[in-house]
Amino acid sequence: MKSVTILGATGSVGTSTLDLIEREPDRFRVVALTANCDVGRLAEAAIRTKAEFAVVADEGCLPDLRDALAGTGIRAGGGAEAIAEAAASGADWTMGAIVGCAGLKPVMAAIEQGGTVVIANKEPLVSAGDVILAAAKRTGATLLPADSEHNAIFQCFDSARPERVRRIILTCSGGPFRDWTIEQMRDVTLEQAVKHPNWSMGAKISVDSATCMNKGLELIEAARLFPIAHDRIEIVIHPQSVVHSLVDYVDGSVLAQLGPPDMRTPIAHTLAWPDRMATPMAPLDLVGIGRLEFEAPDPVRFPALRLAREALDAGGARPAILNAANEVAVEAFLKRRICFLEIAAIVEHTLSCYDPAAPDSVDAVLAIDAKARILAGERVQARQ
Ligand code: NAD
Ligand code: MG
Repeated sequence: MKSVTILGATGSVGTSTLDLIEREPDRFRVVALTANCDVGRLAEAAIRTKAEFAVVADEGCLPDLRDALAGTGIRAGGGAEAIAEAAASGADWTMGAIVGCAGLKPVMAAIEQGGTVVIANKEPLVSAGDVILAAAKRTGATLLPADSEHNAIFQCFDSARPERVRRIILTCSGGPFRDWTIEQMRDVTLEQAVKHPNWSMGAKISVDSATCMNKGLELIEAARLFPIAHDRIEIVIHPQSVVHSLVDYVDGSVLAQLGPPDMRTPIAHTLAWPDRMATPMAPLDLVGIGRLEFEAPDPVRFPALRLAREALDAGGARPAILNAANEVAVEAFLKRRICFLEIAAIVEHTLSCYDPAAPDSVDAVLAIDAKARILAGERVQARQ
C-alpha cells in the first residue's frame, strides 16, 4: 500500500487527487490532509478516507475541526507548525496542492523527509526554485510535476539525453480573453476572468490563466524542472487544451502528450509512476475534437508573458518578486479592488522598484516575498 498526504486537500487539485485515491482504497492509505480553513470539506474527506491527521492552516478554525472530528479517532491540528508536521508525516507520496507561495515551507518540509513529492503548487518553484531543487538533491526526495504541461514534458523528455532535446514547447489555452482586444479587456469582470474555457480550477490560477501569468509562471517552472536553456522553451497557444506540451528533438521528432483537460490524468501519472493506473476518463475522442489549432502568443495584449520571460532571464530574486506581486494583484482583483489590466501593471511596477540580491535560503526568499507584497500592496492602494 502507498501512504499519501495531500497538502491543500480541499482545493481543485486536492479534490481531484482524493477522487483518484478513493477509487482504490486497497492501494492507498491516507496519512494527512490539510486545508486553509474549509473545516467542513476537510473533515468530511478525512473521515471518508480514514486519514490519521487533519490540519487547518488557520489556527482559529481548529476548535471547529476538533468538533467535526470528535469521536472519529482522527487527530486534528492547526497552524503553520501542524501543516509542516503533516507535510513531514513520512508518507510515500505527498501532493503539494496549496495555492501560492504559502506552500513553500510545507513543500520544503515534505522534501526534507524524502519520498515522492508531487508539485502542483507552482509558485514555490518559481520563487525558490534553486533552494527547492538543492533540498531535493540533498535528501533524495523525488520531485514529480503534476502541472499538466510539465507532466506532459516529463513523460516526453529523454532525461538520459537532454542534449538531444532541441526545444520544449509549452502549450497555453490562451484563456477566456484569447481573442479580446486590450479595449475589451479594460472592462473584464471577475466572473468573466474566473470562467476558464476548458479547465475547472481554483480562483487564483483561473485569473492567472486569463492574464497568461499562469503560462509565465509555467515557463519559469519548466526552466527549473528540465535541463534546457531558457531560450529553448517556447510557448504556443493551443485553444483546445488537448496537447498538453511537446518536446522537440534534434532529429526533427516532436513528442507530445495528449489527454482530456482534466487534472486527474497527470495526477494519476504521478500517483502510479513509474507504473500506470486507470482513471475514470473516457478515451480521448480525436474525431469528436476534430481540430487541434496552434497560434503564436501575443505578449503585447498579455504583458505577463514578457514580464515572466524577463524575470526568468534575469534570475536571482526577480521570479520571487514577480510571483509575490502577482499574488497580491490577483487577490486585489478577486476582491474587486483593481481592474483586470492593472494586475500585470502592478507586477511590472513592483519589479521596477525592488531589486534585491539573489536569495540563497527559504528565509531569504520569504523576506523578498514579504517586501514585494508590501510594495505591490502600496501600489494597489495608490490605484484605488
Ligand atoms: P484552490 O484554491 O482550489 O485550492 C487551494 C488549497 O490550498 C485549498 O485546499 C486551500 O484550503 C489551501 N490553502 C489556501 N491557502 C492556504 C494557506 N495560506 N495555507 C495552507 N493552505 C492553504 O487551488 P487549486 O486550483 O487546487 O491550485 C492549487 C495549486 O496547484 C496552485 O498553485 C495552482 O497553480 C496549481 N495548479 C492547479 C491546477 C488546477 O487545475 N486547479 C492545475 C495545475 C496547477
Ligand atoms: Mg498548467
